Amino acid sequence: MRDWARCEADVVRLMNRHFTRGRGGARIQHIVVHYNDADGSVEDVWNWWQTRKASAHYQVESSGRVGQLVWDRDTAWHAGLWSENLRSIGIEHANRRDGTISEACLDNGAHLVAALCRLYGLGRPQWNVNVFPHCHFASTSCPGQIYGSQKDAYISRAQLWYDRMGAGGAASASPAPTAPSSDIDSLAREVIAGKYGNGDDRRRALGANYDRVQARVNEILGTGSKPRTRAVDVDALARAVIRGDYGNGEERKRRLGANYAAVQRRVNELLS
Ligand SMILES: [Zn+2]
Repeated sequence: MRDWARCEADVVRLMNRHFTRGRGGARIQHIVVHYNDADGSVEDVWNWWQTRKASAHYQVESSGRVGQLVWDRDTAWHAGLWSENLRSIGIEHANRRDGTISEACLDNGAHLVAALCRLYGLGRPQWNVNVFPHCHFASTSCPGQIYGSQKDAYISRAQLWYDRMGAGGAASASPAPTAPSSDIDSLAREVIAGKYGNGDDRRRALGANYDRVQARVNEILGTGSKPRTRAVDVDALARAVIRGDYGNGEERKRRLGANYAAVQRRVNELLS
């Protein structure tokens, strides 16, 4: 993965059919785990799903390489049950002939489960609570040995990654209704990356954080309606500071307010 905390896959190979845009108002609540019933690559599954009316959000290869085929905000056709498609993220895993998955595939698949549980605030991974085998929803052998001989190994690895990721404090690490301000910035960057869709989808996904995140998005994109500090003539203020118009220390800080950091940086530049 390029970025575990943001769930950015190694490769993005988006489906052009056999998925549905948006989630019909549903919230992401589950992860559904699949196996290919073959040893596929990201490109292989993309090709298979051109003719099969199916898709999933992610494919984990035997090498551990991860591909995104449907954005999390869209509905992939994987669970065999429409209501479940709407509220879940589907992860496909390449498997060997006996239905087991490689160590690299297990490790990265479980890590991806953990990362998604963190990103979407789903809680610590647990079978049939927030992580489901495909066979829970449909009559199928899927996900093979991931829910057979590797069932405990898979979920305990996901829990291990989930706990480890918690130490770093990922964006949606806690089920608390509002995020600390350091996380508002990462949420805003995820919004810009498209993780939370638009309009009502975005509002619902961000919940209590919506207003603060949206304000930060506007700041980053420069589309905010309120006057922004950047509009201030930092250079002129810096020259006034050097002339002594703004005093020193705390007084300078207080008088420059929100512009202080930018102006002080410019002062230091001018004086260096
Ligand atoms: Zn399946």
